[in-house]
Amino acid sequence: MNRIQSPTSIPKELSPSYDPWDPITSLSRYGKHMLTSVEMTVTNLCNMRCEHCAVGDSLTIREGELLPLENMLNRLEEAEHLETISITGGEPMFRADTVDNMIVPLLKYARERGLRSQINSNLTMPYSRYEKLLPYLDVMHISFNYVNGDDFHEVGFAGSGHAVAKEAAYRLYDTMLENAQRLSREGMFISAESMINYRTHGKLPEIHRLIGDMGCRRHEVHPMYASNFASSLPVLSLKETAAAIQALLDQRNPDIWMLFGTLPFFACSFLEEDRELLRRLKSEKNVTVRNDPDGRNRVNVNLFTGDVFVTDFADIPAFGNIAERKLDDIFAEWLCEHPLNQKVNCHCADAGCCGPNLLVKDMYYPDIDFKSRKAITL
Ligand code: SF4
Repeated sequence: MNRIQSPTSIPKELSPSYDPWDPITSLSRYGKHMLTSVEMTVTNLCNMRCEHCAVGDSLTIREGELLPLENMLNRLEEAEHLETISITGGEPMFRADTVDNMIVPLLKYARERGLRSQINSNLTMPYSRYEKLLPYLDVMHISFNYVNGDDFHEVGFAGSGHAVAKEAAYRLYDTMLENAQRLSREGMFISAESMINYRTHGKLPEIHRLIGDMGCRRHEVHPMYASNFASSLPVLSLKETAAAIQALLDQRNPDIWMLFGTLPFFACSFLEEDRELLRRLKSEKNVTVRNDPDGRNRVNVNLFTGDVFVTDFADIPAFGNIAERKLDDIFAEWLCEHPLNQKVNCHCADAGCCGPNLLVKDMYYPDIDFKSRKAITL
């Protein structure tokens, strides 16, 4: 197959005013949700077992062969409106051969077609693996929820099922910091994500400072939702979550782009304090709020089975397979027919909002019919 060649124009730089992962961008452009983003799961192996891992139950200690690269490339090629790809795991960089035979070719394809790319990694693998991504990758997305090696030890191996020596955790923590600093110096855009949860909510400003020290260009903040390993952890109230966000906004470095995602606050809220928080987020320099891409403009493809999911972590069964159908067709069916999508696919253009994440709705608003609500002027 002749692949789509280099873009006719250089893609815009990622910035607070240009985030192609946000489904509101394509929704505004096309007047309806389009498949502009594909996430691919390239491994279920990982050297860590984080307490909050959203795919913890899928992690394994050995796994079979990936599908041929060509199968995925052919399906990406048919996705007419594609703008971004994301690569996830497990730890995608865990095996050197996955990096060489799957990740680098996918990133090269994205670069040639003018697509934006992201990989999710814990950044604890040898530097030489990350170095190979430098020429092609747009966003290195890491999780960062720690203020020191002890936090990393407690959080990062909680799901191991056996004791992990502190010294071993400290070594990995140092590797992560060194890799982040070195890759940042080499020009890689590192976006560090922190969760707001029962552990982090009181120390987000300190976490934010360390993220800046590592040279990261963006700090992403998402509440932790009850999925997989995280489902047994304590849940923060909406008030605690809002207070943590306010404290972070008070103390952040305004030169670092802050991206808030899957927030449980909406412009249709009857609570003035929710709308006040949204107003503040909207008015702050270098702060953006991203709508949730999962099932809006993005699907997840498991590269072992070809199964297509709304996201890699929700307990929603696959709704298609790349062996049988085009990604655009699978997505169109999800959009129009799947009952779960019908629960949350609202849109208030003035508020720049296209509805809650499914987990958010189930966790905080099980009885609210968002389809019957409208944004109240912020
Ligand atoms: S799009 Fe939905 S969730 Fe967002 S403000 Fe409107 S009704 Fe509320």
